[in-house]
Amino acid sequence: MSRLEGRIALITGASRGIGAAVARRFAAEGAHVILTARTVGGLEEVDDAIRADGGAPATLVPLDLRDSAEIDKLAPAIAGRFGRLDILVGNAGVLGTLGPVSHLAPAIWDEAVAVNLTANWRLIRALEPLLRASDAGRAIFVSSGIVRNNRAYWGAYAATKAGLEALVRSWAAELTKTPLRVNLINPGATRTNMRAAAMPGEDPQTLQTPDDVAGLFVDLADPACTRHGEIIEARRR
Ligand code: NDP
Repeated sequence: MSRLEGRIALITGASRGIGAAVARRFAAEGAHVILTARTVGGLEEVDDAIRADGGAPATLVPLDLRDSAEIDKLAPAIAGRFGRLDILVGNAGVLGTLGPVSHLAPAIWDEAVAVNLTANWRLIRALEPLLRASDAGRAIFVSSGIVRNNRAYWGAYAATKAGLEALVRSWAAELTKTPLRVNLINPGATRTNMRAAAMPGEDPQTLQTPDDVAGLFVDLADPACTRHGEIIEARRR
């Protein structure tokens, strides 16, 4: 029996990187995946890979997470088609431009807050009723080790991930008496476009791949998982 057989999973940032690997792994475990990102071609490539692996065709929802009205539209669409949501993966993120806090361009700050923090709150706000309609709702958000390892020039990214952790752990505390389990993952340095942008001098071959971290997402999405309110480091799980 596949671990996510018949589960309905929404994954943000599914057009590439960690989100794409999680989407493929969830589908391989029997989930029906709803994939969001802005890049339609990337979503289609992930769907092609899922079908080639014998998975159920994905539902593709191209959207920009900075548009809260688009996020709100997800709830009635998922309710109408599935009546519930079993798994939410808030994975999409932006690094923004690294630079001194006092020199950050307001547009860079605003985008980081919108995508890394506000969008996840809007997803929680819109989708909690559907997650509660599941017999074993699971929500997983992607943070970063930068929250506990502050470095020069990463201020906007670090602030948004710290905010995300506080938000999700507060939400988790509200849900202790429900079947809904909510956690955060710190994937650690992973071979993606974002990591290459952050560390251009680094040899990507020295890094773990998105496929290497996808298994932890399955563990936390599994209806049998009891972990709750935790920040889990992929490398130390
Ligand atoms: P990538 O840059 O490879 O992927 C980011 C994803 O987010 C893409 O699918 C992108 O889709 C989506 N996204 C970005 N902006 C928006 C937007 N406005 N609307 C909708 N979707 C958006 O990054 P990673 O896979 O590396 O990152 C995934 C998560 O892991 C992020 O939250 C990141 O902070 C975190 N992380 C990554 C680490 C690493 O070493 N790679 C380490 C620690 C944490 P599109 O552009 O198509 O919209």
